[in-house]
Amino acid sequence: MPLKVEHLSHIYQQGTAMESWALRDISFEVEDGTFVGLIGHTGSGKSTLIQHLNGLIKPSEGTVYFDGEDIFAAGYDLKGLRAKVGLVFQYPEYQLFEQDILSDVKFGPKNMGLSDKEAEEKAIDALRLVRVDEKYFSRSPFELSGGQKRRVAIAGVLAMEPKVLILDEPTAGLDPKGRDEILESIDSLHKERGITIILVSHSMEDVAMYADRILVLDGSELKFFDTPKEVFKHKKELKRMGLAAPEITYLASDLRKAGIDIDDTISTVEEAKTEILRLLSVEKDKA
Ligand code: ADP
Ligand code: MG
Repeated sequence: MPLKVEHLSHIYQQGTAMESWALRDISFEVEDGTFVGLIGHTGSGKSTLIQHLNGLIKPSEGTVYFDGEDIFAAGYDLKGLRAKVGLVFQYPEYQLFEQDILSDVKFGPKNMGLSDKEAEEKAIDALRLVRVDEKYFSRSPFELSGGQKRRVAIAGVLAMEPKVLILDEPTAGLDPKGRDEILESIDSLHKERGITIILVSHSMEDVAMYADRILVLDGSELKFFDTPKEVFKHKKELKRMGLAAPEITYLASDLRKAGIDIDDTISTVEEAKTEILRLLSVEKDKA
């Protein structure tokens, strides 16, 4: 069990008049190789939660275990942890700083103590994984498009070969093409390398396609942690939280109310296609 969160609470500015609870008694476990979608309205505590997972901020109560060890225990190797649990911040492209792309991506592995040659191998591998073409390697990061910059920034974390990759709203501010490219890259990392993914988003549509499990935060509390199918059954509660199930789930639900025998727990266009073809063949058999 690589990652386990136990009774985690976080209070900002504790003990002052400004004190506020950002997380309240959160517990969950992430199994190896899972793709988790972390969903919640703005201010629900998503960014605060993920910064605990690699020890960047300390809990007010509770703790986090990585591979069975309490990461907040005295003497725990937090630097080592940050290579194993990679965190890609929101708008990570603002943290690109080297003159050329390859040097930027090499920074992490070099900082881990690898030789220049080893760091370069890892950097090249990471850039390939996020589909940045070799012809860009010697260019300045600032010549790239928004989506490309973001992929380079993700490569910078991947070059450290993390076991768990956490991304804070990696699609924010991108156009639909940039968004799809990022999500596809993340999905292939998960499928081809078996990396555990925690993808933070406020869009159900983004995570429905890829996540094995969805964790829903609402007002600093964990509301659901289940498969997309189970989570999307709570349509009313999701709506109240300012979230929503994917459009296609509402469409299926409306059709079902209109008397059509469609599975109303579908959440992707692909599932809808399968369901519609099934219904058509049922109709054909009746005729
Ligand atoms: P999300 O990522 O879901 O938008 P955050 O974790 O950023 O949520 O914020 C959760 C709550 O904590 C919000 O009410 C936010 O205003 C507050 N908060 C976040 N960071 C700080 C901080 N550094 N100091 C005080 N309050 C904060
Ligand atoms: Mg956030």
